[in-house]
Amino acid sequence: MTFKSLGLSDAFIKAVEEKGYTTPSPIQQKAIPHILQGKDVLASAQTGTGKTAGFTLPVLQYLVETKHEKYRPLRALVLTPTRELAAQVYENVREYSKYVDIKSAVIFGGVKPASQIATLRRGVDILVATPGRLLDLHDQKAVSFKRIDVLILDEADRMLDMGFARDLNKLISFMPTKRQNLMFSATFSDDIKKLASGILNNPVEVETAPQNATAQKVSHKVYKIDKKRKTEFTIKLIKDNNIDQVLIFTRTKHGANKLTQNLVKAKISAAAIHGNKSQGARTKALQNFKENSIKVLVATDIAARGLDIPLLPHVINYELPNVPEDYVHRIGRTGRAGAEGEAISLVCSEETEYQSEIEKILKERLETSIIEGFEPIDTAPPKRAATQSKGSFGKKKKGGNSGSSNENKPKGKPHFKGNKPANASGSRRTGAPKKKRY
Ligand code: AMP
Repeated sequence: MTFKSLGLSDAFIKAVEEKGYTTPSPIQQKAIPHILQGKDVLASAQTGTGKTAGFTLPVLQYLVETKHEKYRPLRALVLTPTRELAAQVYENVREYSKYVDIKSAVIFGGVKPASQIATLRRGVDILVATPGRLLDLHDQKAVSFKRIDVLILDEADRMLDMGFARDLNKLISFMPTKRQNLMFSATFSDDIKKLASGILNNPVEVETAPQNATAQKVSHKVYKIDKKRKTEFTIKLIKDNNIDQVLIFTRTKHGANKLTQNLVKAKISAAAIHGNKSQGARTKALQNFKENSIKVLVATDIAARGLDIPLLPHVINYELPNVPEDYVHRIGRTGRAGAEGEAISLVCSEETEYQSEIEKILKERLETSIIEGFEPIDTAPPKRAATQSKGSFGKKKKGGNSGSSNENKPKGKPHFKGNKPANASGSRRTGAPKKKRY
């Protein structure tokens, strides 16, 4: 299959060839022909599948083919949950529209609105935006949605997670009812289905991976570990394995800062990216990471959402996410574009339930090991039956792929002198983990 056979015109084929793409990815093969036909599409696709080109190319082609006016009313709008994703999608739009007369712009919060307003006044065919700032600018009459023909919701699940449902509905209420709608989401909760049924008309459903399935070619490893020694272990992991590009997830902004400081102290170049960082600092950290001038990017879930870091070999979950779908999103950062990837999770006793929740949605057990010397403090080392597993570092004992979380029952005796069990009362978290915002 070629880009030409999908119905794309020469100007776009030239642009994708320059990017080095030879064949359309599965999501592109499935979605592009429907989008070109003007159909609504509901696509299950995570970052790394080529979804951005999957919607950008046909929408740009539509805009070129139907452009009749000298002035440029806004006709296509891409909404994304985060600034970083907006910036990335915009970068793609610019690259793919290199050889056509289409004007694009990006709008997000955290920067002064004056230049955004000026850009909008000059006329834009396609706009990429985050919902909050766009709504502000619409309130200020800096932009009109009256001529929108195509609405694209990228990473719709994350938009809902971030509480954008009201903003979305408000934005949509200003648009013509007759328009093409494209919705992309990595996961399909009931809320997403509800949102989709309110927005899409008879959508063609396009799937590239089974629901909530993780990207192929990613090996998952869980190391059961003492909570207090995660940093030490992370440093060892990076140094012993000469890892020179790794994205590490923490659950909190504070945790991201602290880990970054400790990595830098251990002479591992690192930067943190999270919601309390300025837009400039986030962009710089991401750029340095992409250019390999820093080895480690430490991120919270929301900040990392949709980051385009091609061919990332490793992702470390310093802490497991308490929302299991976030695990799917996190590991979507590795094993991309057909490359092998490794997702390593450091799981302390308090997090075993999160692991169970993740295993439930993945419908698979995660390979779970204990590294000698780093055992979780309220968990006895595995019984003798445990086999030694091969590994590139440390003396690793298999805690059982069987796995699961429930297998390592706390036995009480702390392994390390002076360390108190994390849950000294012996009580364990019960019930499903609660969703928290960061
Ligand atoms: P996305 O899922 O849109 O974030 O894209 C993930 C990565 O795949 C980006 O770095 C794209 O530039 C790249 N990409 C998109 N389409 C293709 C393709 N057909 N062949 C190779 N790489 C692609």
